[in-house]
Amino acid sequence: MDTPARVAVVGAGAVGLTTAFDLAERGARVTLFERDTPGGGSTGRAAGICYDAYAEDIDVAVADSAMARFRRLSGEGGFTLHETPYVFLAREGDDAAAAALEESVERMRVHDRAVSLVGADELADRFPIRTDDVLLAGVAENAGWADPAAYVDLFAEKCESAGVEFRVGDAVTLRTDPPGVAVDDVVTARFDAVVVAAGVHSRRLLAEAGHPIALKPYRAQALVAGCDYRGPTVYDATDESYLRPHPAGVLAGDGVEPVEPDPDDWDPTADDWFVADALDAVRHRTAVGDAGESEPPSATDPELDRAWAGLCGATPDRNPLVGAVAEGVYVAAGWHGHGFMWAPAIGERLAEAVLGDGQEAIPDAFDPRRFDGDEEFAVVEGMTLDD
Ligand SMILES: Cc1cc2nc3c(=O)[nH]c(=O)nc-3n(C[C@H](O)[C@H](O)[C@H](O)COP(=O)(O)OP(=O)(O)OC[C@H]3O[C@@H](n4cnc5c(N)ncnc54)[C@H](O)[C@@H]3O)c2cc1C
Repeated sequence: MDTPARVAVVGAGAVGLTTAFDLAERGARVTLFERDTPGGGSTGRAAGICYDAYAEDIDVAVADSAMARFRRLSGEGGFTLHETPYVFLAREGDDAAAAALEESVERMRVHDRAVSLVGADELADRFPIRTDDVLLAGVAENAGWADPAAYVDLFAEKCESAGVEFRVGDAVTLRTDPPGVAVDDVVTARFDAVVVAAGVHSRRLLAEAGHPIALKPYRAQALVAGCDYRGPTVYDATDESYLRPHPAGVLAGDGVEPVEPDPDDWDPTADDWFVADALDAVRHRTAVGDAGESEPPSATDPELDRAWAGLCGATPDRNPLVGAVAEGVYVAAGWHGHGFMWAPAIGERLAEAVLGDGQEAIPDAFDPRRFDGDEEFAVVEGMTLDD
C-alpha cells in the first residue's frame, strides 16, 4: 500500500478549510495550521454573496462548480445557501456603466449563464426595490448568499471527521526545500507538500521563504442594518455599493479604501463615512412606493446593527494566484473579494493538483508564477461590471 501524502495547509479560512477537507477526502494526511481561530481572517468578515454571473470562461467554470457544491452542501449541519437572484444595475445618466453592463450580460449569455437584461419597469414588476433611477439592470438567477461562519463550522466538522489534524494557535513560517513549516522557528513533522491559504498574509509568508507573489491587500467594509427587506442581492454599479438580504434586514457594503493597508496592522472597525454612505444607499434602494414629487418612503428606516472592515487581496490581472510556486509548495490567494464564493471549487481543484500530476485541474491563467512578485499595480476591487 502507498504511504499517504502528508500535506500541511496554512490558514483555516474558507479556502484552507475546504482544501484541507478535499485533500483528506482524497487520502492525504493533512495538518491544518491556523494562527488565530478558524474563520477569524477575511472569511469571518465576508458578505457571503455568491453567483455564477461571470463573463470569462475560466471564471464561469470555477463559479459553476462552486455554486453546484454550495447547493449540495445546503442543509448539511447549519449551512444554508439562500437562493436569491443577483441584480446589477446602472443608474440613469451613467451611460458608461449601462454600456459595460450590456456588454457583460452578452458575454455571460455566450457562456449560457441564466442572466437577463431588464429595464426599470420590468425590474419593479419583479422585485420590491426602488427602480425609478435605474437605466439598465442585469438579473442573474444562479445566485444567493450564505453565512460564511456557518460554512466555516461545517468544514471544520467535515475536516475533523475526515481526520484532519488541527493546529489552532500555531503561527507558522514556511520552509521550501524540502517543503515544510516551522512554529517558533522549530520545523514540525515532515510534509510532502505545503498549501499556503493564509489570505493576505500569504505574500509575507512566501516572500520570507524566497518566493514573492504579486498580491496586494486592500480594505473593504460592510454593515448589517435592521429593516424589513425581502428583495434580491443588488449591486449598484454607479454608486459602487451592494446590499443583500440578511436575517436582521440587510447586509450592505463596499467602502473600499484606495490606501494599501499593512496586513498585520490595520483598522478592523468601519469608518464613519462608510456607515453613513451605506445606510444612505440602503435607504435609497429599499425606498418603494409612489414617488410623486418627492423621494419614495423607505420600506423601514434601516437601523445600524453592526459594521466592520476586512482585508481582500488583489493581483495585477484580477485573476487569483492558485498553484505551485516551488516544488511541493502551493499558494491559493488573491480573490478580489470572491474568495468565499470560489472556495468550494478551489479546494477541489487544488487538492487534485497537489495529489495529482500537476496543474491540470487549475486554469493556467491562475498560475502564481505568471508574475515575478515585484510588480507595481493599482488595485481594482472585485465587484465591477465585467465580473
Ligand atoms: C467586507 C468584506 C466583504 C466580502 N464579501 C464577500 C462576498 O460577498 N463573497 C465572497 O466571495 N467574498 C467576499 N469577501 C472576500 C472574502 O472574505 C475572501 O476572499 C475570503 O474570505 C478569503 O478566504 P481565505 O481562506 O483565502 O482567507 P482568510 O479567510 O483570510 O483565511 C486565512 C487564514 O490564514 C491564517 N493565517 C495567516 N497567517 C498565518 C500563519 N503564519 N500561520 C497560520 N495561520 C495563518 C489567518 O489567521 C486566517 O484565518 C469579502 C471580504 C470583505 C472584507
